[in-house]
Amino acid sequence: MGDRRLRTGLRVLDLADAGVQLGCDPRWAVRVPDLTAAERAALLALTPGLPVPATAPGVDVHRWVELLDALQQAGAIVPARPHRPPPPAGGVDAISWSLLDPVGDGRARVDRRQRASVGVVGLGPTGLALATTLAASGVGSLRMEDPSPVRSYDVGPGGYRWSDVGGPRQQVAARIVHDVAPHVATPSARDDPDVLVVVEADVADPVRAATLLACGLPHLSVVVREGDVLVGPLVEPGAGPCLRCLDLHRTDLDPLWPVLLQQLSGARSHRPGELHVPVLAGVAAHLAAAMVLGRLDGEPAAPGLTWQVPLPDAVPRERTWSAHPRCGCGAHPSQWPFADAATGTVGTGPAAG
Ligand SMILES: [Zn+2]
Repeated sequence: MGDRRLRTGLRVLDLADAGVQLGCDPRWAVRVPDLTAAERAALLALTPGLPVPATAPGVDVHRWVELLDALQQAGAIVPARPHRPPPPAGGVDAISWSLLDPVGDGRARVDRRQRASVGVVGLGPTGLALATTLAASGVGSLRMEDPSPVRSYDVGPGGYRWSDVGGPRQQVAARIVHDVAPHVATPSARDDPDVLVVVEADVADPVRAATLLACGLPHLSVVVREGDVLVGPLVEPGAGPCLRCLDLHRTDLDPLWPVLLQQLSGARSHRPGELHVPVLAGVAAHLAAAMVLGRLDGEPAAPGLTWQVPLPDAVPRERTWSAHPRCGCGAHPSQWPFADAATGTVGTGPAAG
């Protein structure tokens, strides 16, 4: 039978005469009916994450093995693994992801995150909340960039405080991130991170977007606009729509978009700074963090996916953008090598929503 344990994170619930239930989520909850008092007591004595005993008092050994086999079949019991101390950061993720992992090992996911590095450019309240969330989720290295000072408008929940106003965002943010995750590395070196998040105002800077694309650096765009925040897309250079693809789609809809884009992206220092409405910053930062973590965990979001988080309700609106045929970034099927030679036709990406 081998060593086995109750899956980490499962609730153990007493249903009295109806038996015992392990877990609450319909995706994995298991109900065990028709139990004797001794069987019920033995199941209720199981502790999530700990080995299950080979025998139980007052329970026939064959019956006990049969129960454990059935629970292993249902995923509530998993093979035992060597004990490891909790990770320095991401411990909650390690427990909760154990519920979803096929072999019940959420720790492996957090270990991968600890070897990863993420860059965050733009440390207003949205960027800071994103960085703090990544650190608390086990990301090992965060490169944070923002030379501007903390403004009074930046003070908010879980982030900058009044006493931080006037200090350099970059240094204050590093202190706050270390308060949450003391072991996280915050290098200033220019080594490329696994993913770079750029949080900026009004529009994604087309010059920076072109540079990131040319460098082949995966990057997530977060744009804080007048009354909403646009999260995404997570650009995988050459493998999905880039930020220029989005601007070309906008130009198809509004020929004057390039004029607006130029004004909104130019002379940034002469405009009033962006305002991070706390509810929008919170929702957008955590959506962005989930997209980054999905990428680090090997489960990236769909190419071209964006979330618009608007006032007044802050309920995210999903949209999927396609690669634009005139962009030249290599993501549109017409730009794939031999695309038309092989079949005479090319497929079309998902329609711009
Ligand atoms: Zn493109």
